[in-house]
Amino acid sequence: MKRLLREEKFMKQAIKSAKKGLLEGEVPIGAVVVYEDKVVARGYNRRAKLQLASAHAEMMAIDKACKKFHSWRLPEGCELYITLEPCPMCMGASLNARVDKIYFGAYEQKGRSLTAQLAEANLLNHKTEVVGGVLEEECSSLLTAFFSGMRQKQKEEKERKKCQAEGNAEKTAENFVQNEI
Ligand SMILES: [Zn+2]
Repeated sequence: MKRLLREEKFMKQAIKSAKKGLLEGEVPIGAVVVYEDKVVARGYNRRAKLQLASAHAEMMAIDKACKKFHSWRLPEGCELYITLEPCPMCMGASLNARVDKIYFGAYEQKGRSLTAQLAEANLLNHKTEVVGGVLEEECSSLLTAFFSGMRQKQKEEKERKKCQAEGNAEKTAENFVQNEI
């Protein structure tokens, strides 16, 4: 029970970071690096703002943690909390930085993630333990709300364009009638 509460506490911090991204119009995914029971680095998805394919929340948090420790190899016992199951790039970065344990919230819906396979491949003689589903509902509802809001906006934009086009067509017809008279 105590362990669960601890995981939830840090996942809440990752969610807080994700919400920061949301305010900037990004897909809300957040991450924090924890060392000795303290958050030492935070990150959130900034792909749209930076127009960088690598600007994932985990990459941001790992980079910051490496800078903080002045080392590409994070100290033993570093944990990474992410609101969404990491993609293969971020799983690779976690292995490279020697993250010991990853906790993620929502599961990758499309099932394209190779997280588990990569974690178990032992490519770098380093094992990263991965635990999924921490505050899963909260993490996934953040994403669901974002995407349904985006779909709604797209729908409204489409409607607006349609109305505009219809308005233009009417005007053209009016002009045509006027010209004919
Ligand atoms: Zn990623």
